[in-house]
Amino acid sequence: MKKEHHLQDYESVQANFSWETIAKELDGLPHKKGLNIAYETVDRHAKGKHKNTVAIRFIRKDNSFQEFTYSKLKIQTSKFANVLQHLGIKKGDRVFSLAGRIPELYITALGALKYTAVFCPLFSVFGPEPILQRISKGKASVLVTTSALFEKKVKQLQEQLPFLRFILLTDIDEHTSTKILSFSKLMDQANEEFSIPQTNLEDAALLHFTSGTTGMPKGVLHVHQAVLTHYITGKYVLDFHPGDIFWCTADPGWVTGTSYGIISPLVNGVTSIVDEEEFNAIRWYSILEEHKVNIWYTAPTAIRRLMRMDINPKQAYDLENLRLILSVGEPLQAEEVIWGEKTFGMPILDNWWQTETGGIMIANYATMQVKPGSMGKPLPGVEVAIATIDGGKLKLITEPNIEGHLVLKKGFPSMFRTYLHEEDRYKKCFIGDWYLSGDLAKIDGDGYFWFIGRADDIIKTSGHMVGPFEVESTLMRHVDVLEAAVIGKPEPTIGELVKAFIVLKPGIEPNITVKMDIMGFARKEMGPAVAPKEIEFIESIPKTRSGKVLRRLLKARELGLPEGDLSTLETS
Ligand code: ATP
Ligand code: MG
Repeated sequence: MKKEHHLQDYESVQANFSWETIAKELDGLPHKKGLNIAYETVDRHAKGKHKNTVAIRFIRKDNSFQEFTYSKLKIQTSKFANVLQHLGIKKGDRVFSLAGRIPELYITALGALKYTAVFCPLFSVFGPEPILQRISKGKASVLVTTSALFEKKVKQLQEQLPFLRFILLTDIDEHTSTKILSFSKLMDQANEEFSIPQTNLEDAALLHFTSGTTGMPKGVLHVHQAVLTHYITGKYVLDFHPGDIFWCTADPGWVTGTSYGIISPLVNGVTSIVDEEEFNAIRWYSILEEHKVNIWYTAPTAIRRLMRMDINPKQAYDLENLRLILSVGEPLQAEEVIWGEKTFGMPILDNWWQTETGGIMIANYATMQVKPGSMGKPLPGVEVAIATIDGGKLKLITEPNIEGHLVLKKGFPSMFRTYLHEEDRYKKCFIGDWYLSGDLAKIDGDGYFWFIGRADDIIKTSGHMVGPFEVESTLMRHVDVLEAAVIGKPEPTIGELVKAFIVLKPGIEPNITVKMDIMGFARKEMGPAVAPKEIEFIESIPKTRSGKVLRRLLKARELGLPEGDLSTLETS
């Protein structure tokens, strides 16, 4: 099914872009003074042509599903806003969720936004300690969770959470105390009509904790006007059209699962698929087929797992509705982009952003020629550059192909407004109008951005700066290598030596012959200065639950240092 892409001519869209014009494509509140995410995503569609369109289709573990049209979602979220009112919650108070991908989580998110409370999702697999840390840091007033998660993880924390006024359990029929209440009972008693209060562009809306890849997760605060970024990236990058079925595989516990699992598809009036179950190749391909998914947004870890399977999805499944595949979260290797081309007949479109930027900032667009391995070009309306930072001074690099800090100019709506309780750290992220992303990259002569690595991970060896990503990408091209993670190990004569941790493909013996072969390959491909001097075979690479390589953990273990915050470490 061919559809005219929204972004036809990148250069002219970029040249003529203004956020004020984009704001006019949304409604603003009926009283025209302000902007509310829940209004733009739900209520305006519920009274318009999308009222009977399915907003979210929840696929349960047993494959049955439940649908919420925009008008049904309006009623449910208005009810939840009334529940918050009934409980005496105030504007700006924080409403947390701790649940798997169940409807109540989405109703809580949108209902809280409607009420002008701040919504903060927690990943349901967190243990009690990370939950305690985040709820304390965010001073939650309300927590919505399930009985099982409550019993297992929250019950024992209650004394340490005196500010937490209410815990709403999604699966009990009666309130059990004045504090522990039944979500469904409150909802049953709530009115279906709710008038959205004045919401200003700068009113706090969302609190997200980062992935904790480089250290202790930070609490990132976003405001209601961030919805403009969710809207326009939905249009230009995800290329939403009326009738589209979209599937974002991320959990709302991470920013992608909220910005793109909830807000972006809904503000664009399309149907969003939510699967309650975890990754499973057969299940995923079946969902793409059965639910006629048009646009699929996923992550490199999932793509790699699919690549390892002995399944040819194009032969085994009817995927003719699939129009776009996109990826975020970690660098997408050129081979993975090409695998997409071979396997699905379309390249996988990589894009870059962070919890702090609230939405996609650099992307490969459907209409643009893809250079495999590149993150693409900046979102129209966002200025992105490469800079050197010296003695606190920032200088933009204008020549192509020079590595430097990836910086973004302030002034787009979804830029974070603070790190909760870490104002100094927040301020340190800016030099003048430029936000320092903490990543290194370069721009080629055609204006495409290429990821080098996280500034924290860069290895300084014999006067060279080596990004772990380029070494890992090369190692992964060796026939025996499944995955690789590279760190710098302090070494007096050369500063740091490049050390690679490698997971071999199933059936390959971790012996000296394989090691020498990989080392030889790396030297030939990268030269002796950059190729790893040490290789260690390991069973698996430590990653965050959102799929990011935890190089800091490999380094700490290598050097016998404290392991640091492990709240987001994937353990199974
Ligand atoms: P923390 O800030 O707590 O260390 P984190 O940076 O991993 O965790 P996120 O905000 O979830 O938390 O991730 C954003 C980071 O992920 C980016 O700064 C970048 O390093 C990496 N990233 C995201 N998308 C891409 C991509 N397409 N290519 C390369 N790196 C990416
Ligand atoms: Mg980060």
